[in-house]
Amino acid sequence: MSESIKVGDLVMVVRPLWCGHGKKLGAVGAVIQILPNHDNGEKCDTCHALLGPSTVVSLAGHERPFDLYRLKRIDPDANAISEDARKTIKEPA
Ligand SMILES: [Zn+2]
Repeated sequence: MSESIKVGDLVMVVRPLWCGHGKKLGAVGAVIQILPNHDNGEKCDTCHALLGPSTVVSLAGHERPFDLYRLKRIDPDANAISEDARKTIKEPA
């Protein structure tokens, strides 16, 4: 993996599990915790392939952690937002 994911990064689930299954594609969340060599005996819901041990990442707002290899870091430049966009965001609908 060319990019390293750290606690606090915003990431998106962009890949299925190694078995080809996997829900929650497109899920987005901030990294809360990274657990290397995690193995809780979890299996794929679809084909029951054993998923661990692997590095898993807990994301804010998601009950179950995700395998690190499924995630891609999203790197929005928060400071690059224009004044106009800022105004639009603040304006009530
Ligand atoms: Zn599967």
